Amino acid sequence: MRYGIMSDIHSNLEAFNACLERIGQVDAYVSPGDIVGYGASPNECCEIISRLAPTTVVGNHDAAVLGNLDLSWFNPSARAAAVCTSQILSDTARLYLSQLQLDLSKSEWSLVHGSLDDPGSFKYITSPWTAKPTFEAMPVGITVCFIGHTHIAEYYAKQSGIEGVDRISMRNGGKIALRDGFSYIINCGSIGQPRDGNPLAGCGIYDSASGIIEFFRVPYDIAETQRKIRDAGLPASLADRLALGI
Ligand code: ZN
Repeated sequence: MRYGIMSDIHSNLEAFNACLERIGQVDAYVSPGDIVGYGASPNECCEIISRLAPTTVVGNHDAAVLGNLDLSWFNPSARAAAVCTSQILSDTARLYLSQLQLDLSKSEWSLVHGSLDDPGSFKYITSPWTAKPTFEAMPVGITVCFIGHTHIAEYYAKQSGIEGVDRISMRNGGKIALRDGFSYIINCGSIGQPRDGNPLAGCGIYDSASGIIEFFRVPYDIAETQRKIRDAGLPASLADRLALGI
């Protein structure tokens, strides 16, 4: 199976369309959540993603716009975006988001927005230390867990029976071959708001037959996305940061 990986779309329609074009033909799609929040096109992004019918989990921003997360945890611009998104979200989009689970595991991988050991707390995996609980929570027989949340393209690798965890940046894209005897936490980066210093949209493809994961960085019309964010009355900082990838 070839899976298109698309995380943290964040209502960025231009980046989403560019990533779908780069991913091309695949057998199925996987999304570690945060379809909405920050950007100006939540309904359009929900419409596309529901049509693609990916395996998706809920992100903290998806939960926030539905009123299922305390907004006091958000910084002011994220909070403003959540309130704005909630006001313009269609009933169809709201219904789609409300059906998403916190985490799930299929035969070939696990999927969670933050951390697999406690999906509802939306913890960030930012180090080998914070990756360990997710490795320990992966079901027996599963060696790949897709995550999002940090908006940083990278992966963590742990050899069976060995304590240490390696962390490898993929901020400029690239390809890895999964090795027998290892488990992996994979973050293909954010489509809609990259924060790893590379403003290009992040996404990927996992080919489970060959064990190859490709990390893509995709150019898109950042100026158009910025214009729509400003026109929607969202905080200007949400537009500005897109050009910097921070
Ligand atoms: Zn996010």
